[in-house]
Amino acid sequence: MERLTLAADSIFTTIQGEGKLTGVTSVFVRLAGCNLHCTWNYNNRAIECDTAYAAYNITTTQQLTITQIIQKIKEIRKGAKHIVITGGEPLLQATPLTELCRVLKSEGFHITIETNGTLYNDELMSYIDLYSISPKLKSSTPQNNNFATLHNQKRVNINTLGELIESATKRNKDIQFKFVVTGVKDIDEIENILSRLPLIKSENILIMPVGSDETTLTDTTNTILDVVMEKGWRYCDRLHIRLFGNTPGK
Ligand code: SF4
Repeated sequence: MERLTLAADSIFTTIQGEGKLTGVTSVFVRLAGCNLHCTWNYNNRAIECDTAYAAYNITTTQQLTITQIIQKIKEIRKGAKHIVITGGEPLLQATPLTELCRVLKSEGFHITIETNGTLYNDELMSYIDLYSISPKLKSSTPQNNNFATLHNQKRVNINTLGELIESATKRNKDIQFKFVVTGVKDIDEIENILSRLPLIKSENILIMPVGSDETTLTDTTNTILDVVMEKGWRYCDRLHIRLFGNTPGK
């Protein structure tokens, strides 16, 4: 019997909506479970993680073997050559995930991993083509919630972020730092984090507006575009929200 399994929320083919590969047809492998508890404070309104169902409000997950995941990917991939490993926080399942990525790489897929940057596994990262790292800012801390203290303690780990940058650099892999922002008030914290990570290049710094509906996205975008241009960073839209709304599995 196959020993290694992964707790998965869903596997589906769609258009990548965020980051450098926006628009690319991709199979998403959304794993379940997260070590953070993001809930953004936006104009006195709480905005939950848009994949809370796979992060901290989990109701159903499937425990799938590597063979089952590969089979499912082959059934639904359409023309996709890109895999996006996302969550939740995928590195919580580093051992079976390393095996999955090893097989996917041997089949010629391009692999992106989307991680909050709090965990590192060197063997796993050796199979990754695009490191997509999203350190979470203070504005992601839940209010009046038992998880706030733990979330704040864990959300930025400079040593791990440094390891991820070093790993991508030594392997000549692509990297993006994707910061979710509620507005210009978050910019000082981003600069503080970046000042401790001198190897990350400005073209790899992406600023993405918070919001899982088009109105909030557009409002946040309008407040941050000037500062993004001033700093020479990249603006990162959320195309999937504009195309599909916040629909799980789309
Ligand atoms: S780190 Fe990502 S998946 Fe986890 S709670 Fe925050 S936004 Fe959601």
